[in-house]
Amino acid sequence: MEKGIFISIKPIHLRRIESGEKNYEFRNYIPKEKIDKLYVYETTPTCSLKYILTIDKIIEYPDKIKEDGYGNEAFNNGLKKSKYAYHIQKVEILDKPIPLKELREKYNFTAPQGYAYDTRYPELIDKINDLEKRILIENGEKKMNIIRKTIENDEEYLRQISKPVDLKDKGYKDEIKQLDEFCKETECFALAAVQIGIPKRMVYLKNTSLDVDIDNKEYNESKVLINPEILSSKGHTQYWEACLSCLDYMGLVDRPYELVVKYNDEDGAEHTEKFEGFAATVLSHELDHLDGILHMDIAEQVLKMEKEERKKYRENHPYKIISKTSIYKKPKIKKDRK
Ligand SMILES: [Zn+2]
Repeated sequence: MEKGIFISIKPIHLRRIESGEKNYEFRNYIPKEKIDKLYVYETTPTCSLKYILTIDKIIEYPDKIKEDGYGNEAFNNGLKKSKYAYHIQKVEILDKPIPLKELREKYNFTAPQGYAYDTRYPELIDKINDLEKRILIENGEKKMNIIRKTIENDEEYLRQISKPVDLKDKGYKDEIKQLDEFCKETECFALAAVQIGIPKRMVYLKNTSLDVDIDNKEYNESKVLINPEILSSKGHTQYWEACLSCLDYMGLVDRPYELVVKYNDEDGAEHTEKFEGFAATVLSHELDHLDGILHMDIAEQVLKMEKEERKKYRENHPYKIISKTSIYKKPKIKKDRK
């Protein structure tokens, strides 16, 4: 049976852990019971339960550890107050970290000063087990350094205007690989590069068809639009949109039925293409991201719903075409946006 403890770690150390720079966590204690998981609460200003670290061994000074990580040499030289080095074998991040308020109110959890066994918070452990996670590091190797930006942690970042892609600098091809890698493993219709920390004018379309389920892992249109520009738009549709960056906020948004867009493809070739129906909705949502606009900024109504609830809600509130030909009126940004 796996056993774990809850601990608190400062953001500065967690940045090193999630990047793989730091592969041991140093502590001045060793729990009496054998443990293999550290549930990590990130301290102020983050204040949320965010990571699960898998530990495969704990070394006690003066035993030595390999000097391939941040602080390891200091540990070997006895310069650290902490005499126990927990080897981090795997780093997982919760897609949706649990904020302190929720931890307190729902689970009676307080940020640990030392450590707390997982058996003290069984309901919280159930919740953590149910939540979606991303593996960042496994066996010392970076699995994915692609972390999505969310309104919870990175609102200002998401609000920036993305920069045009310089087609002469082929570096963008690596960035497209990251978009591709992220979308393959994520349930989504599409993604704008800024959502994974690349503030450039690139959009990845994965699924623009309402006939294919969003959770169909095999389906991928893998279409990349670089420096897209809207040439014309018309018609009027509505859909209860969700967004990877906006977590559980779902919004009813007016979008055009038809969009004509000029863009460059991965090889730099220029195209002019007409997107109709749901594809125009998806693309319009992503194009807004490039200008720092989120669906909830322009939504007629916003509701907070988790994924499963959202799917059910959409069954009764599906994509709606109001007009295919009317003049499209872009909704104004609401003042009280989140
Ligand atoms: Zn979005």
